[in-house]
Amino acid sequence: MRTHVTDLATVRNLGILAHVDAGKTTVTERILYATGTTHKRGEVHDGTTVTDFDPQERDRGITIFAAAVSCAWAGHRINLIDTPGHVDFADEVERSLRVLDGAVAVFDAVAGVEPQSESVWRQADRYGVPRIAFVNKLDRAGADLDRAVDSIRERLHPAPLVVQLPIGTEGDFTGVVDLVHMCALVRDDDAGGGTAVQAPVPEALRQEALRRRRTLEEAVAELHPAALEEFCDRETLSAATLAACLRDLTRTGDGVVVLCGSAYRDRGIEPLLDAVVAYLPSPLDVPAVRGVHEGAEQRRAADPEAPFAALAFKVNASGTGRLTCVRVYSGTIGKGDTVWDPGTGRTERVARIVRLMADRHVQLDRAVAGDIVALAGLKGARAGSTLCDPGAPLLLERPVVAEPVVSVA
Ligand code: GDP
Repeated sequence: MRTHVTDLATVRNLGILAHVDAGKTTVTERILYATGTTHKRGEVHDGTTVTDFDPQERDRGITIFAAAVSCAWAGHRINLIDTPGHVDFADEVERSLRVLDGAVAVFDAVAGVEPQSESVWRQADRYGVPRIAFVNKLDRAGADLDRAVDSIRERLHPAPLVVQLPIGTEGDFTGVVDLVHMCALVRDDDAGGGTAVQAPVPEALRQEALRRRRTLEEAVAELHPAALEEFCDRETLSAATLAACLRDLTRTGDGVVVLCGSAYRDRGIEPLLDAVVAYLPSPLDVPAVRGVHEGAEQRRAADPEAPFAALAFKVNASGTGRLTCVRVYSGTIGKGDTVWDPGTGRTERVARIVRLMADRHVQLDRAVAGDIVALAGLKGARAGSTLCDPGAPLLLERPVVAEPVVSVA
């Protein structure tokens, strides 16, 4: 059983949050491509993307189908939960925010923070979802990372922590300088558009990169006591300290790591995946979920040996039959096990457990706490239903969310 516990640290339940058109679908596609989950690049404009498989969605050109897709990166499993960006689907956004542990907020480098990015950001605040920011479309005419970061600072979060410097601007944008490890990350187009490769920081950008690294160190030292101590002692921060502090600040929400790139031109997606793994939490790092039974509150941690409890967040009734997407919060569920739904009072048998990949379903014998899978064979479960061990009944509570802050002019 211990292996499961170890495995959990390598799981990232991730959502991509964005204003419509900021590039969420394209970023998702590029993530699936970069992780080898799909072998053919989907293009939004010709309607072949993998995540947007609802015909209604294709017609409308907006992402409304909250699909979950699993992919692998650097020894980690990333469960991508697609969250709708359109305000009309606030319930779906809310349900997906409940089941994910971290998110990437995507911004358009020309438009910066847009009204919907602000409302989704506030919702994520209310659910305490740790986030990193990705300023996309740096290849566009008029793209400006600094201006986008200013709009994040002014409208969303007072402490954006910029960890990259773009190499080239607009059409000449070719990659980024990683300010934590002080190396350039560029795509090797000569090698057939392979993965991003590390290179020395271009001489022309060296001074600027050093200046920005200094700004990053100072900002982190201001926010994190361990960084402050090292900074006072040595007047600089090591890459290891910087990375560890950035991870802490992301998880507490005291700072927001900002990355940049162009999903369109495959620049910056791999460093984004590295940042997801490095900074966003695993199911072990998030607070235990709360539930009630007969008036008594219970807490369930992400422990594979605890009684089973899961939340259904999406039911897909098309194609291969009824599939209920669930987040397992505690315990283990095996194929053929029965689950109880306190909402309907029904006990049902799980016929199959599947991991949803972009282009196929992988059959599993069981799923453990922290995982996101789909269950086949359940007729009564709806989005929002709790499913639990009949021997340990529990109704997962709606999380207590902070009221939105009303600012008084
Ligand atoms: P979504 O509505 O947030 O899912 O955004 P999409 O991924 O559908 O992207 C909206 C439009 O922006 C599409 O026409 C994309 O091809 C385009 N787009 C996405 N990423 C980039 C990028 O990095 N650069 C440029 N120039 N266009 C992009």
